Amino acid sequence: MAHPRSMNIDVVVIGGGGAGIAAGIEALDAGAQVLVVEKAAEPGGAAITSGGGCLIVGTPLQEKAGIKDTPDLAFDDWIKWGGGSADEAWARYYIEHSLHDLYHWAERNGAAWVDIKPQEGNSVQRWTRAQNSGHGLMTSLLASFKAKGGKLVADAAVTGITREGDRVTGVAAKTNAGEELDIAARTTLVATGGFNSNLDMIYEVRPELKSGRVLEGSGVGATGDGHKLLRALGAWFTHMDQIWFYPYCTPDYRDPAGRRGLAFRLVPGNIWVNQQGRRFHNEALSGGHSGSPALLAQNPRHAYAIADKPMLAGISISDPYYQTGEKAHRGRIEELLESSPFIHKANSLAELAGKIGVDRSAFLDTLARYNSACAKGLQNEPDFGKPLGASKQFDTPPYYAIQMFPLARKNFGGVKTDMRCRVLDKHFEPIKGLYAAGEVAGMAGGHVNGGAGLEGTMLGPSIFSGRVAGGWAAQEAGCGSGFVGRANRG
Ligand SMILES: Cc1cc2nc3c(=O)[nH]c(=O)nc-3n(C[C@H](O)[C@H](O)[C@H](O)COP(=O)(O)OP(=O)(O)OC[C@H]3O[C@@H](n4cnc5c(N)ncnc54)[C@H](O)[C@@H]3O)c2cc1C
Repeated sequence: MAHPRSMNIDVVVIGGGGAGIAAGIEALDAGAQVLVVEKAAEPGGAAITSGGGCLIVGTPLQEKAGIKDTPDLAFDDWIKWGGGSADEAWARYYIEHSLHDLYHWAERNGAAWVDIKPQEGNSVQRWTRAQNSGHGLMTSLLASFKAKGGKLVADAAVTGITREGDRVTGVAAKTNAGEELDIAARTTLVATGGFNSNLDMIYEVRPELKSGRVLEGSGVGATGDGHKLLRALGAWFTHMDQIWFYPYCTPDYRDPAGRRGLAFRLVPGNIWVNQQGRRFHNEALSGGHSGSPALLAQNPRHAYAIADKPMLAGISISDPYYQTGEKAHRGRIEELLESSPFIHKANSLAELAGKIGVDRSAFLDTLARYNSACAKGLQNEPDFGKPLGASKQFDTPPYYAIQMFPLARKNFGGVKTDMRCRVLDKHFEPIKGLYAAGEVAGMAGGHVNGGAGLEGTMLGPSIFSGRVAGGWAAQEAGCGSGFVGRANRG
């Protein structure tokens, strides 16, 4: 039998996504030898497919737009929105460090920040997007990691974390070609992302959801491997049931298992209609905070996004097959609109009602009321108060109905860590030599967001906690003096 190939390193990082690559850069800067093990053929994780938006406070972009923002204001918004269950220490740590230790740090590593956008729950605009979205941000960070001498083994999944006595000593991994790797490391850092691409794990923590369809929607590698590896070592998990769902999502008809979903955006003026043929929500509030609970409350638990042809002209699908950074692959989107059995098309609204099996008169009445509000030039439609600025009448066939199901996108709970990202056991004591960052740690510390996120509060804290973990993992490995950073308290 072939022996595993042995390797020896200061810091081994499991997972080459947002947190893992940031951790790698930080540990390299501290003088450590770093190896990232990534199970996909290409690194980047969910982060490289992401919108690239981070909540950042006090930026030059805000200043240019005349927006006054402070860490105190952002912290108030964060805690209110999180519904009381956010980790306050980690939230403040992230918010105060977001300017110098994320915005300017990413710039020093080759990224650029290009615009800001309003998001629900924020008093001011602070969702800050990287040039070419997550693709641009991660491509820059990966290039920097390589330039600093970071080593990466891709196409290799970590299958176990090794321990001698009470100390973690490295990892075992297996390449897709079947080769076994035995990696000894002074410190081990878990950055494997969330578990929202593993429906079984979703149902484990949210059994009540089994009564209807839920879609998998994180990066394809976010299957909870790290959670299992950590659980085997006695790590403590917290807030695992706090999953951030999005409503504007339809099944990925190309997935043979029928589990994955696709989030669609940029369909101005579309309305959501339930199986009874009625609207049930202000569609302008489409985020996880109120849009998802509204969809989850429907019986049966799905709805249809109704649009006419012009409304679909700029539709975007946030999935790497349909979108790379800022570039939408229009041909593939057209193919989806034509081929998905979950997207229905008809030449009249009455015909569309028949195709989706809703009550015809209720459906036509719903559309007529909405059209009439648009025709009258009302600022808000009367039923749910949706602002009509971006809306128009449904008047240009073909008409479409995109079937929507809740999609699990982000895990707000995860493994509990201290402020150095050391993984804690059930006694809330660090497991020696073991660190965790990013979504496996509820983005940072275990549950930095609480029950709801202001947006940009997943990628940003994942990258930041990656840096913190990388700095301290390097220090424990004998390199550097740990992460300090620069707070923005002025
Ligand atoms: C489409 C999409 C858009 C998003 N947009 C935004 C946004 O604009 N703003 C925001 O704040 N958040 C956004 N998010 C969420 C954000 O991208 C994630 O929270 C963030 O990337 C988490 O970083 P991470 O490093 O923990 O995980 P990831 O970036 O997912 O990286 C984890 C890596 O670990 C690897 N891995 C897993 N198991 C193993 C194993 N056993 N061995 C080796 N490697 C392994 C995976 O393959 C993956 O590459 C978005 C998510 C998605 C899916």
